[in-house]
Amino acid sequence: MNPEIKKYGEQFKTQYAKIRAAIKHYDKIVVYRHIKPDFDAMGTQMGLVTFLKDNFPNKEIHFVGDNHVSFTPRLFPETERLNDEFYKGKNCLSIICDVGDHERIADPRYVNARAIVKFDHHPFKSEIAKVSVLDLEAASAAEIVADFCLNWKGMKMSPEAASYFYTGIVGDSGRFLYSSTSPHTFAVAETLIGCGISITSIYQKMYEKTIHSLEIQAYVLTHFHVSPHGVSYYLLPTEVQNELGITSEQGKENVNMFSNIAGINAWCSITQDDSPKEPCWRISIRSKGKDISGVANKWGGGGHKQASGAKIDTIDQLDAFIKDLDDLFVEQ
Ligand code: AMP
Repeated sequence: MNPEIKKYGEQFKTQYAKIRAAIKHYDKIVVYRHIKPDFDAMGTQMGLVTFLKDNFPNKEIHFVGDNHVSFTPRLFPETERLNDEFYKGKNCLSIICDVGDHERIADPRYVNARAIVKFDHHPFKSEIAKVSVLDLEAASAAEIVADFCLNWKGMKMSPEAASYFYTGIVGDSGRFLYSSTSPHTFAVAETLIGCGISITSIYQKMYEKTIHSLEIQAYVLTHFHVSPHGVSYYLLPTEVQNELGITSEQGKENVNMFSNIAGINAWCSITQDDSPKEPCWRISIRSKGKDISGVANKWGGGGHKQASGAKIDTIDQLDAFIKDLDDLFVEQ
């Protein structure tokens, strides 16, 4: 076993043992992740589901949650629809991945289980599980859950499970670019590659572009703004989304076009979303160095130092939000 993986497993020895015992005990297991899923949420969920199905063929393993308009068809199976009958008697285990707060779990019925365990790398918000593996430094949730699986002696990691985990790691580490990428990230990635996956086929599916997507990029490149201290942002109001033929979910897909531009310290996509009861503008924030999660928390969101989500209720709040981010870079 790679020494980085062994060392990491030692750190979470007690939690890993409890989660293994729960998995062995329950015949019905449901794996959950956050709403509005990204590569990491879906890769972690499907990696774990596949690993469990491969190693426990007699157990009933399920996966639920909203699908992603473009990632699901390219990379993941459609999620399952469990009826309420399933939860009768509560004789099942909920495994929560990549999410730390109740409101963001993509099916609230996870509470209808006799035992709840969690793997996450988001700041702690509220206790949702009795046993929790929480590593705020981990670049992705997939890195943590893959480590849990790789540390489980006698279990096999199939190429399919490894491919899902690898997708999550690549997604949330920004292709190993973010500062959260560590020796452990590479150790897990190396081990997964050794399980026989095709990384070129994974990258092709993850980053495939269409001619239509080039038109959206063209819009973003001709409509972005930059604040005095290097916060770039683009707005996608509903009428523009309609013109471009995209959903609000797709609005953030071009946020990283601004990731490596001199003079840009943080960058955001700001997308109108009329779907919730209280319509809002959803913001994806990314940063080169400074911790932007405090600003995200202040503006109804949260996340990590260099990748967070937030929202404003009306466009009148835009200037105040951008100023909060801009202020982070005043001395640079
Ligand atoms: P996004 O820009 O939506 O891709 O989110 C970037 C990161 O921030 C992801 O890891 C999300 O899980 C996290 N995030 C986004 N919105 C929230 C929120 N409201 N609360 C906590 N974390 C969030």
